[in-house]
Amino acid sequence: MAEKQIIARFAPSPTGYLHVGGARTALFSWLLARHAGGKFFLRIEDTDLARSTEQATVQLLDDLRWLGLHWDNAELIYQSKRTPIYNAIIERLIAEGRAYKAYETREELDTLRKEAEKQKRTFIYRRPQLTEEQIRGFESEGRPSVVRFAVPVKDYSYRDVVLDKEVTMPAGQVQDFVIRKADGMPTYHFAVVVDDAETGITHVLRGQEHLLNTINHIALQQALGYPQPIYGHLPVIENPDGSKMGKRDRDKMVRQRSQTWMKTFRKSVDELAAACGLSSARLVEWINDSKKQLDFSEQAVVMQAIGLPESDLPEIMVHDFRKKGYLREGFLNFLSLLGWNPGGDRERMSVDELVQLFSIEGIGKSSAKFDRAKLLAFNTDTAASMPAEKLVGSLRSYLAVNPGSPLNHASDADLRKIIEMKRGFRTLRELDETTRLFFIADADIQYDPAAIEKVLKKNDGFAILGDIHGILVDVADWSAAELEKRIEEFCQQKQLQLGKVAQPIRVAISGTTVSPSIFQSMEFLGRDRTLKRIEQCLALGSKAN
Ligand code: GLU
Repeated sequence: MAEKQIIARFAPSPTGYLHVGGARTALFSWLLARHAGGKFFLRIEDTDLARSTEQATVQLLDDLRWLGLHWDNAELIYQSKRTPIYNAIIERLIAEGRAYKAYETREELDTLRKEAEKQKRTFIYRRPQLTEEQIRGFESEGRPSVVRFAVPVKDYSYRDVVLDKEVTMPAGQVQDFVIRKADGMPTYHFAVVVDDAETGITHVLRGQEHLLNTINHIALQQALGYPQPIYGHLPVIENPDGSKMGKRDRDKMVRQRSQTWMKTFRKSVDELAAACGLSSARLVEWINDSKKQLDFSEQAVVMQAIGLPESDLPEIMVHDFRKKGYLREGFLNFLSLLGWNPGGDRERMSVDELVQLFSIEGIGKSSAKFDRAKLLAFNTDTAASMPAEKLVGSLRSYLAVNPGSPLNHASDADLRKIIEMKRGFRTLRELDETTRLFFIADADIQYDPAAIEKVLKKNDGFAILGDIHGILVDVADWSAAELEKRIEEFCQQKQLQLGKVAQPIRVAISGTTVSPSIFQSMEFLGRDRTLKRIEQCLALGSKAN
């Protein structure tokens, strides 16, 4: 008999940017499908109307495209557009007595939960025995209701292929869960089951937080006569200190820096609140409770008030890594090793090799550490081994999310040149920052006062720069080699070390004391722009005198 084709999927909820954990889930599912020549589907789980946004979906698709994790369904599946399909099934379950409307308010449920807590037992929701009259009463008073699935009470279990063990739930712990919310939308638990079945999903790889949810899903599959996919729950990704890596880490950093800010400037929480235009109550609540998180817009105003730049926050989202100049190839390789290995101590693999080597058996059971130094080393190696042509494409993709970079004005040929000039760079951001001097207007060079002081005002810097200008105006062959020869001759003649001459030129053309090789930089800028920058710098010297 022919083996069944593997169909895997990634089913994100579009409530924010795609984070590292989600990207790793997508990657493993994609690798599983590609390795087996199967299919990989993408589904947008946007049934939580309050938290899902269109913008998050757009961003998510963009991140997945950047990662190169292409999906095989021609049309994207949006759960929010499929309510009639879910409702038809829910109505059928209700008609068959296997699902029912439940009318408790949140407060009533809380009271029940607290009562159970007092009696030191876990709260288990089972179908309340309502009379026809009670139901009529609730309906006529217009009480909102949810629909719950009457889970058949029995022991449940399934085999988790990653953990390589049975996950079980004894009959006593089984409870009726909500399948349609009061707003008329299906819950995640319901929609996920229907959609996995409808699209023929054979393998579900997802985060550990779903380990027990899977029991609910299996109960529903059995009730609806659906086949049961193979389930594997992926290891948790941790920070080096053992805490779970997540969006929370960014919030933590903002809180720490806010506290430092208040201490340094002797400010109270109220003053901080006023500085960012937030309510004091909200800020006090957040600063004192590490479980509370600011939302995106609140975070932005606090960061602005305390002068915390975005670049200081730890990268958690795929978008952050892309923006910081990580290359997709090295990033995917790094992600793949968060909980998986191909055996032996092999670590560096191309995407094709990952596809070839991937297997569920290679996924580990214990949590994976997110080692930023290792990621940086991967990135450096990846950049070093990539042909310049390909790096130009990567740089364009980096620039697309860094619209403020002056490199956006560069031609492909120029980008190629700077890549060759700066070979050995660690990230595209580093390449960007160290070469933007070539792509900004001469008049926009910002001269760092400390550099002017140290390099030009001392040790005859301005005088040397003036002499060099006199030599450079006569250089006809404006190549790095010729410029090097002429400047070395000058150094010999004046008995000066190269640095004493190169540094003033560097400050003149870049405004700072760091730039790529000075001769290559001059060649790149060309004769006119180099001389112009030296002249405008010399003008600063005469102003100073
Ligand atoms: N929408 C769910 C989430 O983002 C998907 C879980 C699953 O893969 O079933 O966590």
